[in-house]
Amino acid sequence: MAETPKYDVVIIGSGPGGYVAAIRAGQLGLKTAVIEKDDKFGGTCLHVGCVPTKALLFSADVYDSIKNAREYGIVCKEFSVDWAAVQARKTKVVTKLAKGIEFLFKKNKVESIQGYGRLAGPGRIAVTDAKGQTREIQARKIVLATGSEAKTFPGFEPDGKTILTNREILAVKAIPKSMVVMGAGAVGVEFASIFHRFGSKVTILEMLPRAVPLEDEEISAELEKSFRRQGITIVTQAKVEKAAKTANGVAVSYTGPDGKSQKIEAETLLVAVGRSPNTRDLGLEKTRVKLERGFVKVDPCMQTDEPGVYAIGDLVANSPLLAHVASMEGIVAVTHAAGKPVEPINYDQAPNCTYCEPEISSVGLTERRAREAGHQVRVGKFPFAGNSKSGILGAREGFVKMVCDEKYGEILGVHMIGPRVTELVAEAAAVLRLEGTALDLSHTIHPHPTLSEALMEASHAVDGMAIHF
Ligand SMILES: Cc1cc2nc3c(=O)[nH]c(=O)nc-3n(C[C@H](O)[C@H](O)[C@H](O)COP(=O)(O)OP(=O)(O)OC[C@H]3O[C@@H](n4cnc5c(N)ncnc54)[C@H](O)[C@@H]3O)c2cc1C
Repeated sequence: MAETPKYDVVIIGSGPGGYVAAIRAGQLGLKTAVIEKDDKFGGTCLHVGCVPTKALLFSADVYDSIKNAREYGIVCKEFSVDWAAVQARKTKVVTKLAKGIEFLFKKNKVESIQGYGRLAGPGRIAVTDAKGQTREIQARKIVLATGSEAKTFPGFEPDGKTILTNREILAVKAIPKSMVVMGAGAVGVEFASIFHRFGSKVTILEMLPRAVPLEDEEISAELEKSFRRQGITIVTQAKVEKAAKTANGVAVSYTGPDGKSQKIEAETLLVAVGRSPNTRDLGLEKTRVKLERGFVKVDPCMQTDEPGVYAIGDLVANSPLLAHVASMEGIVAVTHAAGKPVEPINYDQAPNCTYCEPEISSVGLTERRAREAGHQVRVGKFPFAGNSKSGILGAREGFVKMVCDEKYGEILGVHMIGPRVTELVAEAAAVLRLEGTALDLSHTIHPHPTLSEALMEASHAVDGMAIHF
């Protein structure tokens, strides 16, 4: 019998958790393999998540700029959206990045195995290929990085035409004339922003009392105000009951905030109500791996309760479902697997970004959570209307809100809504990690004219001394 191949580490799944873990494992000199069931590397993030959505958002930005070009002194007489070309550009961006992963695997001597991976016993993984043939490989350490899928419900199953998840909506052949978005979390509001700007009439139905419910309450209020101003309808405390297909699309029934039943018709319904972890068919039942609502429980070094088995990314319990968090968890897991010292992740310092229009980003505690945690809180707020670069860009909406501890002014959280704030949040994350204070940030010279000055101004505002407001 042929001997089964042996690796130091085998990673199941090649999303931003798995592929980054594999590259780092290769860099650490570990004999590494990645198992991927799909015919391309990169996972949800690269193929149906972060990257294609942002490529579409950028095309929407370009379209918006041309529509408003007159404001900047540019006259564009004829322009229109070529949806097929928008889609083709998105595919080109994704394909190039996927090839980049292949290149990085080769560079770092990471072996890739196409097939579906399942745990088959201690240190053993069964891989089933597209023809249904199963073979076994062995590994000293195994990293589960199988990610997540869109949650769906009976009666709301995606059909690729009228009822869609993030996967199908990225492949629609034409811009829908109207769309109901179920869920005002990050995925829902991003797609709402994309399709509204391409001309769809968008209605968002959110069950909770506010949009982007994980963000600071003032951020949610500002986003809802902005969406309404732009012409996106948003109904909070709306409980969706039923989706019935019609001749022209779908009729969505819901109970509104007043307790009355309502019905809205649209060409498409996007279901964006959260994610389910891919832990069902991984062979976990024969292991000591513990689950919490289907998500895998891990220790600070990303180890599960099964010796030698780690888990990272979207399938991890109590970890935010974000690509950059998955990648850091991958680095922690394989560094630990290599026997090197690791620093556990402080999830309170992980930045959150929502790429709607206007963009949202945050890191650390919201004002409410800081107070609940027992802090005496001081808050500084600075509006982008007072920032010169915002004026130059013609994007004066939004603000930076800084939440500090009263005693030493330590920054506990930064919450932003406005132009390009997803590019600003890494500075705030670095300051939080270094336990910096509002004074540290206000004494840091920020270049002029930049949007980053709004962050500095918010730190001045903590002492009631913002310069430009
Ligand atoms: C529409 C949308 C937009 C998003 N935008 C952002 C964003 O802008 N920024 C951000 O940080 N996050 C964003 N996210 C979240 C982000 O995509 C995820 O957090 C991230 O992809 C998680 O990475 P992962 O490696 O854990 O899993 P995934 O990316 O889901 O990858 C898992 C991989 O494992 C493979 N796999 C699964 N089971 C098996 C098996 N048994 N055997 C072999 N292979 C298997 C899958 O095919 C897949 O390739 C977005 C998500 C969505 C849906």
